[in-house]
Amino acid sequence: MKCNEARKITYLSEYPEVVTEDMMEAKRHVRECPECRMFFEQERAFASLLRDKAAKDKAPAELRQRLLEAEPAKKMHSGLMYKIISIAAILMLVAGGYIFKLYSDTESMVEKIVNDHINFLSYSGIQVTSSRSDEIKAWFGDRVDFSVNVPELKAALKGARLCLLDKKRLALLFYEHNGSQISLFVTTELDTERLLSGEEVIVKDKKVRIVEQKGYNLLLWQERGISYALVSDLSIDKLKKII
Ligand SMILES: [Zn+2]
Repeated sequence: MKCNEARKITYLSEYPEVVTEDMMEAKRHVRECPECRMFFEQERAFASLLRDKAAKDKAPAELRQRLLEAEPAKKMHSGLMYKIISIAAILMLVAGGYIFKLYSDTESMVEKIVNDHINFLSYSGIQVTSSRSDEIKAWFGDRVDFSVNVPELKAALKGARLCLLDKKRLALLFYEHNGSQISLFVTTELDTERLLSGEEVIVKDKKVRIVEQKGYNLLLWQERGISYALVSDLSIDKLKKII
């Protein structure tokens, strides 16, 4: 039996009413074939990832409607059942792909944030130099489409600039601590809950995700619908004290 066939049969006969010779053979194949075993292990891991991480990401309304309509009735012609299960499996793949894209987009945005920090070290490109948060808030005005709250960090505020990433307009605030530049990216376009990398810790009642990339440390958190991504070469312990 070929891998494809074995996978299809195994996938569609998880709770069979009757066990056929094909199912037995498929089971045997999967048990003995490393690739197929890997395939089902990854599938299980992905399914549990979806359960844990993606419950908050609602599938598009239309897709969910179709999934609901596809819910199988108790007694049904097996051909129809097969069709429904196939459709459901395809829809799950589509929803999975959609959710996967949300997660990978978030990861790539974090990477771009770190690159931006590296490319503009020494405050190059700074557009407003000020240590006063009200001045900086006023400067952003309608340059970004949200009200920029300048957090009071235990570091010296130096200024700010507008930052364009993936056609998104982020506010970028500069601080300094012990000669190290701290870039704080402020945006409504980054859902830190969708980050799979790094670890989550609680710092001063805030859920903060810590990510290390290219030798820089990132702290990410959300407050009132706005996301903050802080990047610096300072150690994580120091950064935790700063925010
Ligand atoms: Zn196989």
